[in-house]
Amino acid sequence: MAREAKEHCGLFGVFGCDDAVEKVYYGLYALQHRGEESAGIASTNGVELMCYRGMGLVGDIFSRTVLENLKAPAAIGHLRYSTVGSSNISNCQPIPFTYSRGKVAIAHNGQLVNAHRLRAEYEAHGAIFQTTTDTEIIVHLMARPSHAAHRAGMLSALSQLEGAYSLLLLSLQEMIGVRDPNGFRPLCLGEVDCGYVLASETCALDQIGARYIRDVAPGEAVFISKEGIRSETFCAKERVRPTQCIFELIYFSRPDSRVYGESVHRFRMALGRRLAQEHPVPSDIVVAVPEGGNSAALGYSHASGIPLDRGFIRNHYIGRTFIQPSQSRRARMAELKLNPVRAVVEGKRVVVVDDSIVRGTTARSRVRLLREAGAKEIHLRITCPPHRFPCYYGIDFQLKKELIAASYTLAEIREFLKVDTLGYLSVEGMLSCVATRPEHFCAACFTGSYPVPVEDLEREAEVKYAAERSRAAQP
Ligand code: SF4
Repeated sequence: MAREAKEHCGLFGVFGCDDAVEKVYYGLYALQHRGEESAGIASTNGVELMCYRGMGLVGDIFSRTVLENLKAPAAIGHLRYSTVGSSNISNCQPIPFTYSRGKVAIAHNGQLVNAHRLRAEYEAHGAIFQTTTDTEIIVHLMARPSHAAHRAGMLSALSQLEGAYSLLLLSLQEMIGVRDPNGFRPLCLGEVDCGYVLASETCALDQIGARYIRDVAPGEAVFISKEGIRSETFCAKERVRPTQCIFELIYFSRPDSRVYGESVHRFRMALGRRLAQEHPVPSDIVVAVPEGGNSAALGYSHASGIPLDRGFIRNHYIGRTFIQPSQSRRARMAELKLNPVRAVVEGKRVVVVDDSIVRGTTARSRVRLLREAGAKEIHLRITCPPHRFPCYYGIDFQLKKELIAASYTLAEIREFLKVDTLGYLSVEGMLSCVATRPEHFCAACFTGSYPVPVEDLEREAEVKYAAERSRAAQP
């Protein structure tokens, strides 16, 4: 299996509105930061299930004609980014399929840790997979005669999945939202006057004027149909153990969203304040690396009393570099994306606040740009602890060797980045900033304490990585 299974995605669905497809279109626009490589919408009028998917950005994929052809009162949408080798139309979602209970489309945010084993089992029994995503495994599980025969069977199919999955499913009669028992990836429920909405982040609810009701709970499936809304817990109570991805709050989500009941902006400001306490330094200005560092830089500035200024200007026509599929493309995009403001940084001692350092190459190029613009001292402050461990729950760093902090000491990283001082937030400091219960968060990429077992996945990732490199080397 190639690296395709790794993904970080956005979900948005509307049930019960004449303009459901248009609402989904705007919802996907608001969630575009969660995936820039492909998007799709599936819709139903109760008789047919229609689906349109394409590569690229939402605004490029869906023409007025396409949206008109999809027009129906219920729709789900999906955004995706992927890694090398998987950037193709067959892996786009939602995936439509027909099984004994009828037609269904499925959209998935997350990554299954038992995907490899389940896929091997199905292939051993002759199953043929159309895509390389682990989402298709969910389709095969649902279609198994013992699971497909009744609705409870569908829920028991879900309980066989291990790892991270927030799902949207759309049948001819209903829309279903599911969150795995650990609640790794977010999913919230909202309402509009005409119906209900499910979304990865609340910023997408705002986009269509929907009211936030609540988060879908870990281990919960929410069924929305003409009869209304109802909820079921699809796994044993003991299996429900919230370990929500804290990196969603630190990096991925939009600051105007509420995620896991937390204001992302407030959380990031608290990270910045805490960072100023843990790593103070005499300086002239605080600057943020936009967008991720903006709220935290404000917090750092408030707590330290050092004025905040705009040290970088962002080119808004460049996508997120972290979610570009190759290292060379990421590095090139990073350089195009941010330009330092010489008038702000020249001759100054500058505190630079950023949200994370994963591979280190992007941070290094930004530091170089700041030096070239005349910064006298550069003090880099990171709003999370060092990433020392891979993530197997849907974020694209699955190899230890890709993580600079897994191989190098703090002093070596500081030397590599060419900064005067470097300060990461502590694990305790990071967790102290959540407004809810810190024990309900996953911090495995910082601590190595994985809430769902991941044995063998590092080896599997190594094999995939080697296969990719060999494919890339072929003429
Ligand atoms: Fe999020 Fe890190 Fe846990 Fe992955 S390992 S789910 S990135 S906190």
